[in-house]
Amino acid sequence: MNRRSFLTAATASALAPALFAGRAAAEATFNYDALAALRAGLNESTSQVMSTASYMMDVLGPRLSGSPGIRKSGEWVVEKMKGYGLTGAALEPWPTDPTGTNNGFSRGWANSKFYLAAVSPNSFPISGMSVSWTPGTKGLVSGECILVTDTDEKTLKEKYAGKLRGKWILGQAPTVMRAQWDAVAKRYTNDQLDALEIPARPPENGTPAAPPGPPPFMPPAPGAFNRNTWFFQEGALGVFATNKGHGVVNVQGGSRTDLPDAQIPRIAIEAEHYGRIARSVQQGQPVVVEADIRNEWYDNPDMFNVVGEIRGSELPNEVVIIGGHFDSWHGATGATDNGGACSIALEAMRLLQSTKAPLKRTVRVCLWNGEEQGLIGSRLYVAKHFGGVRGVPVAGNVRGNVAPMTRDHSRFQAYFNLDNGAGSIRGIYSQGNTAIAPIFRDWISPVRDLGVTHVSSRSTGSTDHVSFHNAGLPGFQFIQDPLEYEPKTHHTNLDFFEALQPEDMRRNSVIMASFAMLAANHPGKLPRHQRPATDATIPPPAAAAAAPRTP
Ligand SMILES: [Zn+2]
Repeated sequence: MNRRSFLTAATASALAPALFAGRAAAEATFNYDALAALRAGLNESTSQVMSTASYMMDVLGPRLSGSPGIRKSGEWVVEKMKGYGLTGAALEPWPTDPTGTNNGFSRGWANSKFYLAAVSPNSFPISGMSVSWTPGTKGLVSGECILVTDTDEKTLKEKYAGKLRGKWILGQAPTVMRAQWDAVAKRYTNDQLDALEIPARPPENGTPAAPPGPPPFMPPAPGAFNRNTWFFQEGALGVFATNKGHGVVNVQGGSRTDLPDAQIPRIAIEAEHYGRIARSVQQGQPVVVEADIRNEWYDNPDMFNVVGEIRGSELPNEVVIIGGHFDSWHGATGATDNGGACSIALEAMRLLQSTKAPLKRTVRVCLWNGEEQGLIGSRLYVAKHFGGVRGVPVAGNVRGNVAPMTRDHSRFQAYFNLDNGAGSIRGIYSQGNTAIAPIFRDWISPVRDLGVTHVSSRSTGSTDHVSFHNAGLPGFQFIQDPLEYEPKTHHTNLDFFEALQPEDMRRNSVIMASFAMLAANHPGKLPRHQRPATDATIPPPAAAAAAPRTP
């Protein structure tokens, strides 16, 4: 899931005419034998989803966009899909970027060595990871730590000019941490799911004005004072940052356009290690830290999405897509964000193929690249195949600033995305498309015993179904139990295989396969929302590339 989360009641969508044939007609098309056959995916001895997830996460590792790792993993998935008997299994290259910036990835990046330890007055290892697209050290280096919490240019220069050479900067106060009083992992209660499904009634005396939200993020103006750049100019060794606590550290990326040799190493470390060093310094005890960190850079890496499909028997040009994003952050192996969902989508395809599920329309799996940097892979794919996407300069296919609609835009059936951690599917967001809600209610009836009970009228964002929705195509995201996602695994050093819950994974693969089959065999096209007037929810790739990330 992309970081810019939001959840809003969609009220603005004008609805397409309700084209659905009604409950009785929809249910008459269900092939209950075929739906029951998909339940082979619930059986621990016949499901392959955890084995797929283990190889993807444990053997192949993290899949940072534009890194050699994601390419290696993509090639493995293509072979796996061919083994399932899917057609068209391939790494589909992103369209050529006519602006010459490789769609925002002029550089790929990977960490190949990470050694960080305190050596004086006590020796202890420090857990952490480089922020991606920042440099490592120049071999083995050693220096004292200094706590610098000031942020404004004048104070910094008065207090620290000429005093930072050869030092590690602790750029923030130590985290104030409290015990974890509440359970870290949670499932949705029925009341919480009801609240997602039933819009709150307005109060009797009108709706009070909403409090103002946070100001929109603005990247620093070119030439504005940048603290990390000044630390670099002063000759500091690197900057340590921290967050979260309880052994959890969020590790994301820096600017993909800054030159490797013109920026300071930035390293996210665990709050407990950071705190020990910072408090020792506050006690007047100098702490010396040594490091040997190697980060590699790759010019203009090949960018691609991973695709494969089962051709439809009657309407092969009409397509249902299931998927999630293939790219991950690099501090762990990206299990809950979003390799688990990729394993589920692959298992759903395997179940459809191995049970010879009858499919009138084509079912395709797409695993997206560049989601974490602004849904880039899915936007480019929608622009190329269907059109209707704003602000994507697809080569030879630009009319104004919007990719023109293709014939496949009208033929498209639906996209189903999974990217809210590792939790069991409990329902689906209808993205304000009220005409589709009764159809989804029919579709959840065969999987209701697996815990799928609710159809929310709300919109959810920050992941790849938004690329379809913004182009006027039906794109949906499932409601999932949150489990440990926000406190523990989302973009952190703990997003490993262990966070995947096998029962939830097996259920999700059956549910995803069921939805794909029902959409593929639905009598007629699914009702559509009107294409929204603006893409308010995601920044264009250029802004995403320039935006500095925490830490
Ligand atoms: Zn994410």
